[in-house]
Amino acid sequence: MSGRHEKEKGVNVQVLLRCRPFSEDELRSNAPQVVKCNDYQREVSVSQNIAGKQLDRVFTFDKVFGPSAQQKDLYEQAVVPIVNEVLEGFNCTIFAYGQTGTGKTYTMEGECKRAKTGPNGELPAEAGVIPRAVQQIFDTLEGQNAEYSVKVTFLELYNEEITDLLAPEEISKVCLEEKQKKQLPLMEDGKGGVLVRGLEEEIVTSASEIFSLLERGSAKRRTAETLLNNRSHSLFSITIHIKEATPEGEELIKCGKLNLVDLAGSENISRSGAREGRAREAGEINKSLLTLGRVINALVEHLGHIPYRDSKLTRLLRDSLGGRTKTCIIATVSPAVHCLEETLSTLDYAHRAK
Ligand code: ADP
Ligand code: MG
Repeated sequence: MSGRHEKEKGVNVQVLLRCRPFSEDELRSNAPQVVKCNDYQREVSVSQNIAGKQLDRVFTFDKVFGPSAQQKDLYEQAVVPIVNEVLEGFNCTIFAYGQTGTGKTYTMEGECKRAKTGPNGELPAEAGVIPRAVQQIFDTLEGQNAEYSVKVTFLELYNEEITDLLAPEEISKVCLEEKQKKQLPLMEDGKGGVLVRGLEEEIVTSASEIFSLLERGSAKRRTAETLLNNRSHSLFSITIHIKEATPEGEELIKCGKLNLVDLAGSENISRSGAREGRAREAGEINKSLLTLGRVINALVEHLGHIPYRDSKLTRLLRDSLGGRTKTCIIATVSPAVHCLEETLSTLDYAHRAK
């Protein structure tokens, strides 16, 4: 959506496309490349071979990040303005959407396992959106003369059930089973929002703390991931309170929230799923993924009714989708031929969100 278009429609939904590089396996097997990115033209072209004929489909997005784009490039071009909004006291949401293995977690978290900030607080090149956002937030707040607090929560949503990813580990990883994990209830907060009762809220005092938090949460998620078959969503939220004094000596409190969502693998709602007759089951399991698509469509199309209430994910994000908020969808794809069908369905889904 172009800037002008955006203003006319009064909706702030940006859709970006990121294509990861070939993996070592794909390189070794000489997998043909079917996705080509033109970052400058903001275009992605996909070549298909249908009945012996070469067919190219071209999609345009707000921004395109080809395989050579670095974490820093994506952050600076797409996320910095969103975090600035949050620092001004608005709520914003960034989603990673795509097939399993295309780089959603890489984009949102990065390779955090051994990551640490450098001696001057600089982030490793592999750091994703979450650590960079936290860094930008602290860099800005530390340079201002205001009191502030930064809190984070990290939760997982699977089959419409919420698990706290920051809660202390009660059960050993070996016997981690879905039903043994503690489920948290979602409640109306009486102010039009919702809250998750019992969710751990961690106060962060410097950017360097983020890696241990992320590692704690994503280790918990990784353990469950194989069990959950890439059908879980994770939501990392950063809430900032800033107390400022106006020139008249009055106190002003700004509160902004940034939601960073690593969605379940999009193959769960794809055409291949439907063809195999799993659509119903996939729909039940991924009510949140389907409802999210409908909510974003309704926002973009200015429909009167926005079906926030139809899933837990959209209920959780209600105060951060639509209205005076910015939403960014980062659709991720693989360049390889063996992912072609899923790539096309991701591109179609993402394109519909524009
Ligand atoms: P997803 O979360 O979508 O299932 P991952 O983020 O786990 O996918 O990525 C799958 C693999 O591809 C990981 O090993 C990751 O490091 C690698 N990868 C993904 N995107 C990129 C990228 N843009 N540059 C380099 N490696 C990437
Ligand atoms: Mg992942």
